Amino acid sequence: MSALVIGGSLGGLIAAHLLRSTGWDAIVFERNDEELASRGVGLGTHPQLIAILKRAGIDFDETMGIKPTRAVCLDSSGKILIEQPTARTLSGWSRLYRALLDALPVQTYRLGKKLVRVEQDGAGVTAIFADGTRERGDLLVGADGVRSTVRAQFLPEVEPAYAGYVAWRASIDEADVPPDLWRDMVELYAFCLPEGEQLISYAVPGRDNDTAVGRRAYNIVWYRPVDRDALADICTDGAGRHHAAGIPPPLIRPDVIAKIKADAKAVIAPQIAEIFARTTPFFQPIYDLISPQIVFGRVVLAGDAAFVARPHAGAGTTKAALDAACLADSIRDAGGDLDAGLKHYEHMQMPFGRALVEVNRAEGAYLSAQTKPKADRSAAELHRDIGAVVRAHIDRSEQVGDIVAAHGLTALAGA
Ligand SMILES: Cc1cc2nc3c(=O)[nH]c(=O)nc-3n(C[C@H](O)[C@H](O)[C@H](O)COP(=O)(O)OP(=O)(O)OC[C@H]3O[C@@H](n4cnc5c(N)ncnc54)[C@H](O)[C@@H]3O)c2cc1C
Repeated sequence: MSALVIGGSLGGLIAAHLLRSTGWDAIVFERNDEELASRGVGLGTHPQLIAILKRAGIDFDETMGIKPTRAVCLDSSGKILIEQPTARTLSGWSRLYRALLDALPVQTYRLGKKLVRVEQDGAGVTAIFADGTRERGDLLVGADGVRSTVRAQFLPEVEPAYAGYVAWRASIDEADVPPDLWRDMVELYAFCLPEGEQLISYAVPGRDNDTAVGRRAYNIVWYRPVDRDALADICTDGAGRHHAAGIPPPLIRPDVIAKIKADAKAVIAPQIAEIFARTTPFFQPIYDLISPQIVFGRVVLAGDAAFVARPHAGAGTTKAALDAACLADSIRDAGGDLDAGLKHYEHMQMPFGRALVEVNRAEGAYLSAQTKPKADRSAAELHRDIGAVVRAHIDRSEQVGDIVAAHGLTALAGA
């Protein structure tokens, strides 16, 4: 049996590995002409992701990430307001991508293959690519992300919903951070919570995924409310072109970068503002999305193509891995009845995906509310308990585990 996996990022790679491990022939088709490059940003991990990577033959060990020991909240003068222990492993997107790609037979990862359409008949499914080629398989997995071509064909009315805020992201090599400052920050999972905003920063593996002293990197994620007009403005490049689906980082106008750096100096703890000032930041508008259906005959959606949760729980990749594991196991356990296997996959992953979206929506509700007039905001949207925000964030790893357990998916990560 053969599977065509559309999208060669983390979700597609994990799906290909797990399908192959159950005896399928899985080939990944990625639209980019070159291997994907990370923008050096960090990636939160959860135990379920690590367990599923092990199932895929990827031994994720301590060298794949950095574990800060203390979570702190810094005020705008840089003073520690709150401190508590933490034990999360922060890795890098490219650390996982490299490991997954290297473990896949070369001929099963095809670059420059942009899917434009899917056709299916009683005997299987055909993927049609922009270069005019066609591929035939028994199953097609749409792991093509938030702007999924596969989803757009089967669910044209389903669009990502803008959350009302963006994530400014920045990263910098350890060597470019003054040593004293690095020493102060490296052990910390640091929050700054200016009114209406949320910033989290921590050390991550550096270039070439290095976790050695002197070769790590520092990562900043800064959520800021931005109304639709302001979003349209910052998504417009210097030539006046508007990039509705997100502006490529090199096209962000210098005045937009200058403003965010000035704002950092004004509202963020000076330690982090000093690091931020040395970076070239970029931003991603935050969206979420719920699909009302994820199986269409022999076509399935997985990862961000199926559901997009806001990134607060740092569980997007964990969710993509759970989708992949559930898909592979459902097909295996259904014996020869592929349709029954796919039905089971949909039955398990729909409520799970929805629950993950809802949890992250609740987490981001305070940020979303900032673009509403004050009179229209609830008490929780007006006042935020900083201690509760930090505690909730730190507990989130457990919460993801609870959602996984509540939806009967624990065995996927343990098998
Ligand atoms: C600010 C922010 C922070 C985040 N932090 C974390 C975190 O800490 N931890 C975490 O786990 N997750 C995090 N995420 C989420 C995470 O990035 C994704 O959820 C995860 O990578 C799953 O992605 P995916 O493989 O399903 O889709 P994607 O990574 O979006 O990949 C889709 C792939 O499909 C390809 N593609 C698209 N269209 C086509 C086509 N027509 N034909 C062929 N190929 C196509 C694309 O080029 C891309 O390679 C964060 C997201 C954001 C925005």
